Amino acid sequence: MMPNKRCPIWHPFTQHALDNEMTKVVRGNGAYLYTADDHRIIDAISSWWVVTHGHCHPQIVSAIQEQAGKLNQIIFAGYTHDPAEEVAQLLLKLAPRGVDHVFYSDSGSASVEVALKMALGYWHNIGEQRTRIVVMQHSYHGDTFGAMSVGARGVFNAAYGPLLFDVTSIPFPASGREQATLDALESACRNENPAAFIVEPLVLGAGGMLMYPAWVLREMKRICEASDVLFIADEVMTGWGRTGTIFACEQANVVPDIACYSKGLTGGALPLAVTLCRAEIFDAHYSEDRTRTFFHSSSYTANPVACAAAKANLDLWKDQECHRRIAAVATMQEQAIEALRANPRFANVRRCGTITALDLKTRDTGYLAGVGPKLHAFFKGRNLLLRPLGNTIYVMPPYCVTAGDLGEIYAGICDAADALA
Ligand SMILES: *Cc1c(COP(=O)(O)O)cnc(C)c1O
Repeated sequence: MMPNKRCPIWHPFTQHALDNEMTKVVRGNGAYLYTADDHRIIDAISSWWVVTHGHCHPQIVSAIQEQAGKLNQIIFAGYTHDPAEEVAQLLLKLAPRGVDHVFYSDSGSASVEVALKMALGYWHNIGEQRTRIVVMQHSYHGDTFGAMSVGARGVFNAAYGPLLFDVTSIPFPASGREQATLDALESACRNENPAAFIVEPLVLGAGGMLMYPAWVLREMKRICEASDVLFIADEVMTGWGRTGTIFACEQANVVPDIACYSKGLTGGALPLAVTLCRAEIFDAHYSEDRTRTFFHSSSYTANPVACAAAKANLDLWKDQECHRRIAAVATMQEQAIEALRANPRFANVRRCGTITALDLKTRDTGYLAGVGPKLHAFFKGRNLLLRPLGNTIYVMPPYCVTAGDLGEIYAGICDAADALA
């Protein structure tokens, strides 16, 4: 054991005995972060997938400043405010047609808890016994108990396993094995009378940036529909342009019954999340009987400053320039990985929209692969913010990233593979 150098702050997903040196960042601008000793870091993972248009985007910053001086917090039961009203309206315009209500919360995990509670509340209130949730292998939906229960079981949650609720898991639709996934879903829907199926559309993020095609998403929705199983799209990571369209479900023409958005909802400036649902789900809770109320809230539900940031973000999405940037980043990313497809050090070189991922060929794989921390340290030394998932390296940049930045990122990745080979 290393001597215990007490760090008063307990950092997330950090093993302090192995990694106790935190890099202090003092400011951010666009795709860059600047350290206290004035090194410029390229943020190749959008600060854990949240920053979309770049750090400290001027329109988002000024919206926050303006709202902070006007109304910075208000109870949201029985009260409302312009930023929340405007964001809800804009969201319902952007979201798949057929989704009608917006419930606010403050993190992706909370938006998933809300989605699960909406689904269970729906069946409860219409008097049908349906409580089982179907999930996809390798999924990640957050770190609270409900979100962990519907996520992959493994090292992240081994200590809590006995208290996680039981779910039915269908296999990930790996290339060439899609039918097995669809068959498993069909059988679960037919035999287990489930309440809902929850899935990350097109890309499974924390599970290793695993990608599957839109037609599989489309088919999964069709199967759920046929058995009245509620379809929950967790777009917490895939939303806001990451997969090449604002929401991944668009590519499959899928209208989810319930959808979760967070991360890039404020452009990555402030914590905020929403759970959207179809009218039937709201209606099942709509009653003069108060026991049918949707009993969920967090203190900061629809915080006005966070909503003002989201409003500024949604305004940016009205601009064609934003959509051009997405397409440009997708093209640059494809060009960047083209050469790596033939590189013998890498396997499964893949891309979905603006996200690329590749697996470093190593003997040990999985999230705790020894190569993970070594890669992370190597990238830190190169002033690149990349945080591989085990031996899977991925690039998910903010949309203001330049070809030059990507050049530096991929040069770093190739050098790391050579150095650690
Ligand atoms: C990050 C993530 C979450 C959890 O969001 P938090 O804001 O970290 O609670 C849920 N689902 C998916 C798909 C995510 O990527």
